[in-house]
Amino acid sequence: MINRRKFIRASAFTGFASLVGSKLKAAGEPVTVKGQPIVISTWKPNVKANKAAWEILGSGGRALDAVVQGVQVPEADPEDMSVGYGGLPDRDGKVTLDSCVMDEFGQCGSVMAIENIMHPVLVARLVMEKTPHVQLVGAGALQFALSQGFKEENLLTEQSEKAWREWLKKSKYDPMETLHEMDKLIQKQQVPYPWPVPDLNHDTIGMVAMDTNGNLGGACTTSGMAYKMHGRVGDSPIIGAGLFVDNEIGAASSTGVGEEVVKICGSHVVVEAMRHGMSPLEACKEAVRRIVKNNSKNAKDVQVAFLAVNKKGEHGGFSVAPGFNYCVTTKKGTIVIDTKSWFS
Ligand code: ASP
Repeated sequence: MINRRKFIRASAFTGFASLVGSKLKAAGEPVTVKGQPIVISTWKPNVKANKAAWEILGSGGRALDAVVQGVQVPEADPEDMSVGYGGLPDRDGKVTLDSCVMDEFGQCGSVMAIENIMHPVLVARLVMEKTPHVQLVGAGALQFALSQGFKEENLLTEQSEKAWREWLKKSKYDPMETLHEMDKLIQKQQVPYPWPVPDLNHDTIGMVAMDTNGNLGGACTTSGMAYKMHGRVGDSPIIGAGLFVDNEIGAASSTGVGEEVVKICGSHVVVEAMRHGMSPLEACKEAVRRIVKNNSKNAKDVQVAFLAVNKKGEHGGFSVAPGFNYCVTTKKGTIVIDTKSWFS
């Protein structure tokens, strides 16, 4: 938590940062700090996604290109039951996907509740690059995707359909309970699943990166909470909630119960906290603190996690409940960090 002394330090830093920012902004350039590239992403299994992102970052490519390439890995993976193909459906049995991107120029695009498109992140990028809008939803998002040459595909795998049909027997929606039910189901059926509970129902990929030019980019993509109401949109495709990038300061993303992240504009809070001098870890903790405060009676039942990187390439993450981890790739290689949490 921030104390008075840190606030004073923060203001001094802010003054400096905005001076640098305004000078460069006047020249119409993104604020760059040349340095070591880095990419971080939510959840351990996404080391594979980091690897794909690093193919671009490690050879001097742009952060946005890297994250868009990286997050396509879980989008196409049928074993990942929380993103893209193979994602758990909503209560009506429909796989609806949410995705967004944001770049170093502060440009962004997103698609929400899009169906039958395996790589919603590519559509989100095209919303940013080819339309005058930043968000397209449902049928309109699909219509746009088809106009851009995307093909419709069935994204509901046998495994996800089986899990949904099992859920239908009780049809009880409670994010934490759903998670435990899924655990039991998966163990009973011995469904191959690459990582342990409690990550099951909260596995969105949020990925943020800094490239060799010091520019930032981010992407976030998910099938959202399993068994949600049809049409429900979480935090992941909402700029400022599931993802935020400010090339002067840093970038952040989130995973977990999206409703709680939206209520505090979570990723924006993290970036703003960094602007005021907090480290990425402290900033993620500050966003978690607000979620805990909003849920004073049941905060332990609301898993949310954030990760962030700043312009110096420092990174951090923090979660409400234990169990969150994130992958970091730099030229030294890839590591997985188990974060600290508000509750133990
Ligand atoms: N944040 C996602 C959502 O609420 C879910 C998750 O991260 O698991 O849709």
